[in-house]
Amino acid sequence: MNNKSNNKNSKTGRLIVISAPSGTGKTTLVQALCEADPKLMVSVSHTTRPKRDGETDGIAYHFTDVDSFREMINAGQFLEYAKVFDHYYGTSRNAVESQLSEGRDVILEINWQGAARICQLMPESISIFILPPSYQALETRLTDRGEDDSTTIQRRLRDAKNELSHYKEYDFLVINDEFEPALAELRDILASLRENRQVKQADLSQFVAGLMAETKDFQ
Ligand code: 5GP
Repeated sequence: MNNKSNNKNSKTGRLIVISAPSGTGKTTLVQALCEADPKLMVSVSHTTRPKRDGETDGIAYHFTDVDSFREMINAGQFLEYAKVFDHYYGTSRNAVESQLSEGRDVILEINWQGAARICQLMPESISIFILPPSYQALETRLTDRGEDDSTTIQRRLRDAKNELSHYKEYDFLVINDEFEPALAELRDILASLRENRQVKQADLSQFVAGLMAETKDFQ
């Protein structure tokens, strides 16, 4: 984990990568961040996964088919893309670059593979990993939200274990135990970037060790 210096070109926005295992509450946190900050945008990814109830095309994702997605890959239209849960997900190069050039900070809600790719391509970007308070809490949240059957929940938990194992690759860790403190922490990280000051990160090594130990029991 490290702190990065502020943007040299003050007109260009910053890219902020946020990853978390599903069920961690990342999307709700990102929505709350953006609602309160007109200079902050969230990038809408393209995906080949089916639309869920309540999702709107162009808002949650740009929903597309595999052939169109592959054409976009071949045309170089993605800044990064990955296959997650058997479906493709990708970040539109044009959309992100135009927002950045207009001076907006752009959040990418993407998985660890996408985060690694972005950090390689754009080393001045910052990355944040949101952790659940415990692995058990993740299971409870996935079950309580009632979106998936038990096979899918088991699959998501396995993927969560894999996603969690990449936490060290991120600049900042935030625990989403309670919504408001987690949101305040994210706001502080963003403010610190704009003010070019360092964020004091609590030492989470013991907490993370406990969380990783918990995932070991899950096959
Ligand atoms: P969901 O289908 O639950 O919305 O998302 C599944 C996973 O795909 C999440 O980890 C999410 O962060 C990731 N994801 C969403 N959009 C993108 C993207 O454009 N690129 C990458 N690499 N991952 C994405």
